[in-house]
Parts: sequence; C-alpha cells; structure tokens
Amino acid sequence: MRGLTFQGNGDLRVENLPEPTVEQSTDAVIRITRSCICGSDLHIFRSGEEFGFEPGQRIGHEFIGTVEAVGDDVSQFKAGDRALSSAGVSCGDCEQCGEGHEYGCSSMSMFGWAPRIWAHGGAVQGGQSEYARVPLADYVLKPMPEALAAPEHEATVLPLTDVMSTGWHGLVSADLQPGQRVVVIGDGAVGLSAVHGASAKDAEQIIAIGHHQDRLDVAAQLGATTTINSSDQEAIAAQVAELTGGQGAHVVVDCVSNTPSMATAHATVRVGGTIACLGTDHFAGKTPEVNWYDQFVRNIQITGGLIPMGRYIPELLDEVQAGRLDPAPVLSHTLPLDDAADGYRLMHDRAEGVIKVALTP
Ligand SMILES: [Zn+2]
Ligand SMILES: [Zn+2]
Repeated sequence: MRGLTFQGNGDLRVENLPEPTVEQSTDAVIRITRSCICGSDLHIFRSGEEFGFEPGQRIGHEFIGTVEAVGDDVSQFKAGDRALSSAGVSCGDCEQCGEGHEYGCSSMSMFGWAPRIWAHGGAVQGGQSEYARVPLADYVLKPMPEALAAPEHEATVLPLTDVMSTGWHGLVSADLQPGQRVVVIGDGAVGLSAVHGASAKDAEQIIAIGHHQDRLDVAAQLGATTTINSSDQEAIAAQVAELTGGQGAHVVVDCVSNTPSMATAHATVRVGGTIACLGTDHFAGKTPEVNWYDQFVRNIQITGGLIPMGRYIPELLDEVQAGRLDPAPVLSHTLPLDDAADGYRLMHDRAEGVIKVALTP
C-alpha cells in the first residue's frame, strides 16, 4: 500500500509499505477513504527528529474509511462498515476514559505520533496512507451514520476526527452557555471550528481574531458575528470592549496559546470568565507566560488542553445530522495521497487560501 513516511526533518515521502493486518483480537484494519493533515503534523514535518521520530514512521491521526477486517473480539464493527477513527487510541473502559479523560488512559497513543510524546500504550502507525491498523477498535472507531456514509459527505465528516472535536473541546471545557459572548483567537482550522461550534451552541456574539483575511472570511461563513484582522493587542482589546459593552467575553478560546495570545485572552475575557487553551506549541516546548495576577484578581478560569480522543465524535455527528454543523469549509484543499508532501508544504508556507489539506488515496 501507499503511505506517507517521515524520513528526516523537512523530508516526508509517500512510499510502498506492507499492508497492516489484524495483530490482536481487538484490532480492526480500515481502508482509508480520506485523511487530512493536521496543524500539529507540521511540528513533525519541521522537527520530528526532536520528537523521537525514526525514518520510515508513518504520520497522520485524522482519517475515515471502510472497515476491511476485524479481530475476533471486535463486536461493534464488521467488514464493510463505514467509520471515523478517533485521533488516538484509548480503551473506553478505565477510570480515566469513564470520566472523559481519554488522554490519561494507560492504553493512550496518538496515531502517527512519536513514542516520546504520546504513547503510554505503544506507538501506532499513522493514517495518511491507504490502510491503518486500529487497536481497541470497538471504542476507537465511531460508526458513520447511514445518512452520512456516502463519499459526498466526507468533507463534512472528516474534520470531526480532530479539529472540530478540538474546537468543541474548548467550548465544552469552558462550559459555554447559549446567549454568551465568545472570542476565538487564531484563524487556523481549530479556531474556525471553535467559531462554528460556538454558533451551534447558540452563542450570542462570536468574535474571531486572526490576521489572514481569507480565513476570517471563512470564520464569518461559519458563524462569526464579527472578525478582527489585527495583531495589535491594544486595538483588539479596545474593539472587543466596544463590541461587548465594556464587559468582555464570557469565553475566550485561545487556539494559539503563546505569550502574546494569552495576553490578548486576558485583555478580552470578562471578570469571572474562562480562557480555554488549545494551542499545540506546548509540544515544541513553548509554554506561554500567563498573567496569574489577572487570573487571581478577576477570578479567571483557565482550561482546555488535549481532546479526549474521539469522545465528542458521536455528539458532533448528531449536530451535523441536525443541520447545525458543517465544518467542510475548513478543508480548503484536497490532494491525492501521493502528493501529500506538497500538502505539507502548502500548509507550512501558509499560502493564500490554504487552511487544511485533505488527502485521497
Ligand atoms: Zn490533528
Ligand atoms: Zn481507558
């Protein structure tokens, strides 16, 4: 089969690889019909060696497809079923999974990531390929509803595997309520997904902040009531204050999570409000400075973090079927799998109009 492999920093190649097989009785093998490149995969592209990547390792944790084979102990799926994969493996049975902390499961591993970061449960190969082995398939795979199983729905469904779940996680962990005001910092795929989720959750005001006008136009299409194209923190704070009657936002979703974005979050959140941090620069060791004084004197909650793998996929599928969500616009480009390295280059260069690249085998 064809699959994208890491060969060294800045060097990704699609190669002929052995097809994965059912290795354990709880495994499934899925034939991937569409996958996509994550902003977090760019960390691997740029500096995978620092994360412990070895040449030949396969990348990709966002994929959907058709079940090809299952082990004897898989009861929820059979060959031919359409399914979405969670971004990582977790058991669904332990105390952590039961409480919605799948990232803390002892079986937890991200597909296509490095053992050094996320693989208490052992490394699993990535899904930017024709097939993938899915451990603990009964929990890790999520069934695709019949009404969404056709190929024309793939662009709507695929973002649920990670970016839409991540944007949603920011809103859930901040306990966003209908009628509240939301600021979303960052106009990448996760920021756009947070905007879209806030719209599905009936936020009254959704202010999207970024500095790419093409992406902010997509934010408006996905539900932003106002977009601010600026990186001038004082100007942003003044504009948000004006838009919110001097109050600020109940919820700020910070999809960048660096020191300047956290300062913007504190400057735009209301007293007693919540900041949800979803940025992945932490993986590159870039932990932001936080204004703990402001946190203390204005009782700001700080939350967010890693998504609980595929936990939100079923409820997000319900939102899609109810006509409240369609995150397809976050996938700006679709390329053949063989051109995957070009897709990374497009996203790395942040070319005009590029948000996120889907891959078709
Ligand atoms: Zn991802
Ligand atoms: Zn578990």
